[in-house]
Amino acid sequence: MTRQLHHHIAGRERPGGGGHHGEVFDPATGQVAAHVPLADADDVRMAVDAAHAAFPAWAATPPLQRARVMFRLRALIERDADALARTITAEHGKTISDARGEVTRGMEVVEFAAGIPHLLKGEFSAEVGRGVDSWSERAPLGVVAGITPFNFPVMVPLWMAPVALACGNAFVLKPSEKVPSAALHLAALMREAGLPDGVFNVVHGGREAVEALVADPRVQALSFVGSTPVAQALYRAGSEAGKRVQALGGAKNHAVVLADADIEAAADALLGAGYGSAGERCMAISVAVCVGDATADALVAALKARVEALRIGQGLDDPDMGPLVDAAHRERVRGYIDLGVAEGAQLVVDGRAHACAQGPGFFLGGSLFDRVTPDMRIYREEIFGPVLCVLRVADFEAALALVDGHGYGNGTAVFTRSGGAAREYARRVQAGMVGINVPIPVPMAFHCFGGWKRSIFGPLHMHGPDGVRFFTRLKTVTARWPEGAAVAEFVMPTMG
Ligand code: NAD
Repeated sequence: MTRQLHHHIAGRERPGGGGHHGEVFDPATGQVAAHVPLADADDVRMAVDAAHAAFPAWAATPPLQRARVMFRLRALIERDADALARTITAEHGKTISDARGEVTRGMEVVEFAAGIPHLLKGEFSAEVGRGVDSWSERAPLGVVAGITPFNFPVMVPLWMAPVALACGNAFVLKPSEKVPSAALHLAALMREAGLPDGVFNVVHGGREAVEALVADPRVQALSFVGSTPVAQALYRAGSEAGKRVQALGGAKNHAVVLADADIEAAADALLGAGYGSAGERCMAISVAVCVGDATADALVAALKARVEALRIGQGLDDPDMGPLVDAAHRERVRGYIDLGVAEGAQLVVDGRAHACAQGPGFFLGGSLFDRVTPDMRIYREEIFGPVLCVLRVADFEAALALVDGHGYGNGTAVFTRSGGAAREYARRVQAGMVGINVPIPVPMAFHCFGGWKRSIFGPLHMHGPDGVRFFTRLKTVTARWPEGAAVAEFVMPTMG
């Protein structure tokens, strides 16, 4: 039976007012599993009304009490981890083990946010002048909104919401309309954890809903994760509307394999990083840069055997790789494989020919391209599917120049046995997250997540200390308690 989903506004289920809805698929079968309401401006206004009304009392709640809500939320996420993972797999298609990992990584941000009394502590300077003290404090912004992509239905909302809420903000989440159910589960858990109604709201939808959030002057900040064109446009529109914006975009993550690397270990690492979650990760490795032809020949041979042996199937059966998220995205990825062949790259493994690509569901086999060159579109553009491109360069400097010349700068990895080469790479490379013999260097919740170049718009990264900075405003207070008559001062005050 097709489920009918709803918005979550002021603690209650709300049907969409405008009557528009989208279809949510089970990618493993290709069947429609649910209908999701697509919010219009009135639906969004109701959600912002609820958040705006709930904000003052929540902001006035002591940080320690807000932290206790986070402790309870953490316990509830752990209790429901399996159900959340099943929901992710049902709508995204990724394997159940991978979905469980996603839930854990999201839960870790809740654990970070539970430390909010410590994180909000300001700095204090006594006697900045005679009888004058000065201190800083962090105030919440008000109503803030999160707009999230399809590929992490639990983790990316949890990159944003726990930090924003613990800081004292009220939140409106607009999850991807392709994977809407997990956000509703999170909303129910937040309620159960004791979060007052209206402090966390969920509106579903696409562009129209996002534009309504941008247009509402009560929304103080937008935290966005998605593709680069949308991130860039939202950063511009939100900034022009006077909002604070952080917008994380797409990626083309390079793994540099130096001649001294352990090739078998590198091939294992690249297999998981390139084809895990069917390549639908912003931290997936989609380019392997081999230093020297011998390195490339050995790596391609090791990868070929592994890619051909990938176990592909329904996510709930826990194979290596599940389907892509929907039919349109599969066609897009298939189109890039056609393009790579037309551009003259050598297709070593053809995922289009895999048996799974013929059956029901949005499956595609893993593809491996060798002898890709920097001018090809399959190199320059984000494919976001199970396609790994191998490029060959002469030396370390050429590898570094290639990575730095690319428009995206999210993550990168280097495989080597040389500490000196690894250190040099990590120090000089133009990317936000670097792995040394670690293919997917996703920072922990107490550090910050974010790329460089066209992988991010705005100065502040996700979660960690940057998350607290993004969701608060700094205030600095200077205080004096004079005794006796005040004296008018007409010159710039100095404390000398
Ligand atoms: P997307 O840009 O299509 O959608 C992201 C969000 O924006 C969704 O909520 C969607 O409904 C909304 N949206 C889509 N089109 C819009 C428009 N024209 N105006 C306003 N809002 C719009 O991205 P996606 O396909 O859901 O996710 C995949 C992309 O996200 C990839 O490019 C991937 O690299 C990126 N991503 C980046 C990170 C990161 O941390 N940098 C993490 C995860 C995913």
